[in-house]
Amino acid sequence: MATIAFIGLGNMGLPMTANLVKAGHRVQAFDLQSEAVSRAADLGAAPANTVVAAVKNATLVISMLQQGQQVSRLYTGNDGLFGHLAPGSLVIDCSTIEAETAQNLATVAAGHGLDFVDAPVSGGVAGAEAGTLTFIVGGSEEQFTQARPVLAQMGQKVLHAGSHGAGQIAKACNNLLLAAQMAASCEALSLGLDHGLKADVLSEIIHQSSGNNWVMEHYNPVPGVMASAPASQHYQGGFQVKLMCKDLNLAMSLSQASGSPVPMGSAARALFSLHQVAGNGSLDFSSLFYLYRQQKAG
Ligand code: NAD
Repeated sequence: MATIAFIGLGNMGLPMTANLVKAGHRVQAFDLQSEAVSRAADLGAAPANTVVAAVKNATLVISMLQQGQQVSRLYTGNDGLFGHLAPGSLVIDCSTIEAETAQNLATVAAGHGLDFVDAPVSGGVAGAEAGTLTFIVGGSEEQFTQARPVLAQMGQKVLHAGSHGAGQIAKACNNLLLAAQMAASCEALSLGLDHGLKADVLSEIIHQSSGNNWVMEHYNPVPGVMASAPASQHYQGGFQVKLMCKDLNLAMSLSQASGSPVPMGSAARALFSLHQVAGNGSLDFSSLFYLYRQQKAG
């Protein structure tokens, strides 16, 4: 069993930490929010007061932060972690960030004699809790082989997308599609409600028909239809609207770099941005359903 430093104990990081503890590892857990560190300690992790304390004697570091600037600062900022790790250590960043940032970090890490892989995830908080996440890894074949066993203890599928940054590119493509699916699912359900259909009846019909998708199967946006979905928990927890906006911005940057047309992604970004600026950035992204309900005329 390994000594693992886990940095970032939010909606995703905390249940991922819990699964590593269950697998028998010593997990030294740190977050900027002390309540999050206490919650990790309650789950059996070793609480760390500082990020440097978290990596003491650890040869494996996993980070799960919100965005790229935070990840860059963590590893290469003033007193960055790369300077505190023993050569040969493996760093796995599971945050969803710019592919370019991940590539730069891999290069700087190599200069310190460290291995770095990008390993963003899919599956949401429910997947993190159940240990059924999909990890999408960017790095060399050897690094992928090195990272796979520990990732398999937090997920069901560990996929190799290609070299450094490829995991982030695949993740941005996936979330563009997820955002479009969520927006279209909210739109279809809202239309049906306006014509007198019941949300649970329409949801089941779509679920059994050709419009079925991941949102309709696991993440219904209408409160009360799916007890386990964030919509039925007042849109708390889950995947925040502001993080979906960040991911759509990542997809837009990729499209600009390659000249790829992304009209569906652009439409989804406009919708989620409107929803965010209306003050909903911290709600789960399925709360987009309310944007549709508020926009209805009359
Ligand atoms: P979150 O905001 O719930 O958690 C992020 C945590 O990182 C917070 O607790 C914050 O305090 C901590 N943090 C930030 N900077 C830090 C630092 N320098 N040191 C230590 N801790 C720091 O976010 P989340 O929902 O857990 O998402 C994390 C990442 O996973 C994001 O990139 C997101 O896009 C991605 N993601 C989220 C989901 C989901 O369903 N929530 C699904 C797939 C991927």
